Amino acid sequence: MKAYIFESIGRLILKDVAAPVISDSQDDRRAAILRPRYVSPCSSDVHTVFGGSRPRRENMILGHEGLAEVVETGSEVRDFKKGELVAVSAVMPDIPGGTGHEGFPFSGGKLGRNMDGLFAELFKVPDADMNLAKIPEGLSPEAALMSVDVMTTGFSAAEYADIRRDDTVIVMGTGPIGLMAIAAAKRFGAGPVIAMGSEKREECIRLSREYGADMYISYRSGDIIFDNGRVSEKYAPLGKAYEMASAANSLGSPAVSRIFELTGSRGAERILICGGGKRSLMSACDMASYGTGTVVNAAYIEGTENPELPLFSLGKGMAGKTFKFIYCKGGRARIEEMMKIAGKRGESETLDPAPLVTHRLKGFENIPAALEMMREKPAGLIKVMVEI
Ligand code: ZN
Repeated sequence: MKAYIFESIGRLILKDVAAPVISDSQDDRRAAILRPRYVSPCSSDVHTVFGGSRPRRENMILGHEGLAEVVETGSEVRDFKKGELVAVSAVMPDIPGGTGHEGFPFSGGKLGRNMDGLFAELFKVPDADMNLAKIPEGLSPEAALMSVDVMTTGFSAAEYADIRRDDTVIVMGTGPIGLMAIAAAKRFGAGPVIAMGSEKREECIRLSREYGADMYISYRSGDIIFDNGRVSEKYAPLGKAYEMASAANSLGSPAVSRIFELTGSRGAERILICGGGKRSLMSACDMASYGTGTVVNAAYIEGTENPELPLFSLGKGMAGKTFKFIYCKGGRARIEEMMKIAGKRGESETLDPAPLVTHRLKGFENIPAALEMMREKPAGLIKVMVEI
């Protein structure tokens, strides 16, 4: 069969490889072989192909976001049948013999990372009853496809932040993960949600507002792009907490200054990092409120040099700020939960991730073109879906 393989840095090549088979082994009896039908390359695929950091995954089949048709099942697979279109969990927590995903982000199976992915004519999923998910009737392929990674990652960021009612939440990065984190934070009862992203990406600005952000700040200039008044509603009556010390803005970032100005120097209770880089870690430390601030990093941090920590805003190590580095939750129950949320119509909890798919291509041969689009990110692009 044909498959797209990460050969070396910058090279994704189409190669003939052995098709997966189901043997009579214990593991294979619970496995399934599937044919991808809708796939979406991800920024993390771009990092794998074009990024320089280790460990590298030469000769691995890439791709982890997909809906697929069941082609064959092992004898012990109970819930899925040949011909069924299913959502495939990008992260698989329950591989038999593994340590489980719960509490161990790096112990699960990850398509296209530590096991062959789905940019192939066929691919195999272990423990199919645990890792494939039933698509609710009427749910669009776009919404189902966005649930397997993007939505669960955005939700994971907000869940790990333990958002309390009326907490101010800053979401750094307004790509697909950040947009879902905004929506999740609102669902979990956040107070003002401040999106921090590029001022040039109009689609991200529009969707930030749609998914519930109260304010949008340019991460570069600190300019306010939109504001519905909820931030000043919360902070204006409180006045200044203390004189803003410029030392707390360790990078001299205009966006961080803006947050201090808006919050009376308090910063935000919860910060979700969904994009950026090492500098985002520093700024997040700066912006997290003393005593209660929690920062959750759900972003891939590029590079090999270790970041510094801002000693002043971390109170020389005693600021009472919590930092979490997380990975998305996966598995069948999780993805079915996400699709249930995505599929509710006409209710207050409606959250449709389908608008994240801004571009569509057709055909297996267009997978590299879709990856290239994710790399170049033309204006208006958030996610691209390839129908096979
Ligand atoms: Zn992904």
